[in-house]
Amino acid sequence: MLIQITCLTRRAICLLALGSALLLAGCEEAPRPPTLERVRDDGVLRVVTRNSPTTYFQDINGETGFEYELSKLFAESLGVDLKIEMADSLDDLFDRLNQPDGVALAAAGLVETAGRKDQARFSHSYLEVTPQVVYRDGERRPAQSKDLLDKRIMVVKGSSHAEQLAALKARMPELEYEESDAIEVIDLLRMVDEGVIDLTLVDSNELAMNQVYFPNVRVAYDFGEPARVAWSVAAQDDDSLLDEANKFIDRVKQNGTLQRLKERFYGHVDELGYMGAYTFAQHLQQRLPRYEKHFRKAAEEEQVDWRLMAAIGYQESLWQPEVTSKTGVRGLMMLTQRTAQAMGVANRLDPKQSIHGGAKYFAHVKELLPASIAEPDRTWFALAAYNIGGGHLEDARQLAHKEGLNPDKWLDVKKMLPRLSQKQWYSKTKYGYARGGEPVHFVNNIRRYYDILSWATQPQLEGNQIAEGNLHKPAINKTPPKEQLAPM
Ligand code: GLU
Repeated sequence: MLIQITCLTRRAICLLALGSALLLAGCEEAPRPPTLERVRDDGVLRVVTRNSPTTYFQDINGETGFEYELSKLFAESLGVDLKIEMADSLDDLFDRLNQPDGVALAAAGLVETAGRKDQARFSHSYLEVTPQVVYRDGERRPAQSKDLLDKRIMVVKGSSHAEQLAALKARMPELEYEESDAIEVIDLLRMVDEGVIDLTLVDSNELAMNQVYFPNVRVAYDFGEPARVAWSVAAQDDDSLLDEANKFIDRVKQNGTLQRLKERFYGHVDELGYMGAYTFAQHLQQRLPRYEKHFRKAAEEEQVDWRLMAAIGYQESLWQPEVTSKTGVRGLMMLTQRTAQAMGVANRLDPKQSIHGGAKYFAHVKELLPASIAEPDRTWFALAAYNIGGGHLEDARQLAHKEGLNPDKWLDVKKMLPRLSQKQWYSKTKYGYARGGEPVHFVNNIRRYYDILSWATQPQLEGNQIAEGNLHKPAINKTPPKEQLAPM
């Protein structure tokens, strides 16, 4: 309140001063209030971004993406709403940023470069990336600049990579490359994967995130020094919003929020390893299409998300219907004999039955969770219960409670689960010893697979018939009309 009054008073004084200045100076335009004040007055932070897996996209639950989630937290910290605008190209992005009354911030995985000095000023960095030359497995691996000659190279028009190639061309005029503003990084990776172009340049984070979709793409070599990814404001903007963004970025770096977001969006590569990422890409193309219709059907019947069921299936058996483990669990969803019987599964090795049984069991354990556990945590708890059983999970919740943690929050309970394998702790629980670390990995992995599947099957791409046999490619081939994606 006090702040508001002060602001109002200050603005009134400004207006008075302005009034007299106008009288004196004739018809000069009113000076614009500082950017931060405008954002607060409007109650909206307008952010421009790109539609890509590293920045912003829509999944089954709505808008998401690393840049989206980070900007949303920033908007919340300012006490305003977030409004995302989608740029058609990088030129369009900087135009929107520099228009009078344009967007306040660009949050688009942008690297601070010398060439962007006239258009933008950058915040503190929240991600360090290395530009990399990528090529197709099986082709000769380029190792230095002269290996780029006589190759078909394409990059995003106006990108940091186009700038790097222009600098190289100044030294090596025979270098040829193309710039396109009709494509995104993910298209470039697909083109390399399919051999349509020979090489491209991408930032290491983009490759890490997308490797799972493109099994043939390989890193040739690092193209220059690590670069800083940051948000930007228009070059001529005052410091107010940038200062606030810097404070916010410093804060989320310190309190672990940034690290958690990085793990959520980039963590699957660490989790899967690069080989795991190639393998996942292959299985996504070769195995999932055989079972997709069963996942969809079972999920519909049990009112759960089919992508989550598919992610469980991948974690359990890598989508292989005939797997059998030493402990006696079998089939695509790795059901125990008891669970299979309870769920009415006669033949665990039949993928359709296994998937239906798994989905039914998942819905069942979810149903049994205490009502106090709300989404999205409820889903993670249900996964943990699916893996370790409701009794042990309840023990971990009790331990959380005793530690003064919140037994309804997955982040808290997952800290307690590993204790179930330590005598000092499990001896005091109702259900006793359990391999408590396992459900933590189980849930982590499934969340990674689920995120990947969510991108590959995002709802705005559903119109492109993501169905049996073409789940993977068309989803990425056909970039939908951008205006379709912009939330109103
Ligand atoms: N990081 C790139 C840039 O700053 C954008 C994405 C790309 O083209 O790789 O221009």
